[in-house]
Amino acid sequence: MPHLETLDRPLIEASQLARLQLGLARMLPTNRFYQEKFAGKESPFLERLADLAHMPFTDKRELVADQAAHPLFGSNLTFPLSDYIRLHQTSGTTGQPLKILDTQESWDWWGDCWTTVYRGAGVTRDDTVFLAFGFGPFIGFWSAYEGAKKLGALTVPGGGMDSLQRLRTIQEIGATVLVCTPSYALRLAEVAQEHGMNMRGSTVLVTIHAGEPGASIPATRRRIEDAWGATTFDHAGMTEMGAFGYSCSEQRGLHVNEAEFIAEILDPSNGKPVQEGQAGELVLTNLGRWGSPAIRYRTGDLVRHGGYHCNCGRTFLHLPGGILGRVDDMLIVRGINVYPSALADVLHRFPAVTEYRVIVTREGSMDEVALEVECPPHLVTDIQEELRSALHLRIPIESVEPGTLPRFELKAKRVEDRRKQL
Ligand SMILES: [Zn+2]
Repeated sequence: MPHLETLDRPLIEASQLARLQLGLARMLPTNRFYQEKFAGKESPFLERLADLAHMPFTDKRELVADQAAHPLFGSNLTFPLSDYIRLHQTSGTTGQPLKILDTQESWDWWGDCWTTVYRGAGVTRDDTVFLAFGFGPFIGFWSAYEGAKKLGALTVPGGGMDSLQRLRTIQEIGATVLVCTPSYALRLAEVAQEHGMNMRGSTVLVTIHAGEPGASIPATRRRIEDAWGATTFDHAGMTEMGAFGYSCSEQRGLHVNEAEFIAEILDPSNGKPVQEGQAGELVLTNLGRWGSPAIRYRTGDLVRHGGYHCNCGRTFLHLPGGILGRVDDMLIVRGINVYPSALADVLHRFPAVTEYRVIVTREGSMDEVALEVECPPHLVTDIQEELRSALHLRIPIESVEPGTLPRFELKAKRVEDRRKQL
């Protein structure tokens, strides 16, 4: 399965079409959600991959509404409830969480998708993988745990521990791979420093990051790599979709695992596919989770189409810079597009910056952005200057005392949107 990743594009696309046709044939006789969605459409059994573009989208709001209308788990289920063995929830901080079920087959599929992530990062069965997160109902790291088992690596769950206990465990067992969010890798390094521990010299050689963008933001990645003396890899996945993105030795962003997902990148303004080099919304179809399928799912993630060539030899779609942010988070400040990841890239160039917060307000019909940054006050002018040359914008910055802004273990929420309060 992983070895599709270096084949010529027509072979990859032929495999995608065959998987999609088989999956639709299996799913449609019993899945009420997609039966209703495809009702009145021409034959949903596609003849060409390009026909997928005529199928309707699926989005999160729809799935949430479906679960409200058909409690507990909604109607997007292909098999009897007794076939499902895992329940996870989305970690979204707003709105009703979505409950997603997996069968034994689809849970194996999640594990296989994660072995692709590990292989991309050069992790093998000889590694010891430490997972630094709380093991709640959020799927990301559970699937990382399952994938490490499939790889044959020794796997250590770091749930129920505080940061110091996690650091001590990493040292004690000689973990070689750390899996956590990028924000939390930096937080662990901060705690290590407070306790006089040197993680640069630790046994950790590889860090893999999930849950939020960061490992594909050059300055953030360098900061994690410096703190841990390790090579840092990115990964992207979603509860409702699967573990779809992984990075390779080139560290230039993400590849989409096109053995298991069909990716489209669409211009949010008109729904048309973007050209190579352009950014748009990532729309995904999963090919291996027919118990809880997602056809043309609007991820809400903004990505750039990077073509199909990479020096690593993979021919899977490349997303330079990884996930650039949420489509909704893209701000237009005085006519200039500003992605939160671009702000992180500048701020993380300053070693004295420990944490920051982006405040978004609206003046008239215009969005405005200001920053609160944990840094010495004398740095403010330098940061402002660096932001101005990177983004061509003058952004007001207030320096705040170190340790005063929130810290995050799972998804960091650094953008505070005050537009709605106005
Ligand atoms: Zn590559």
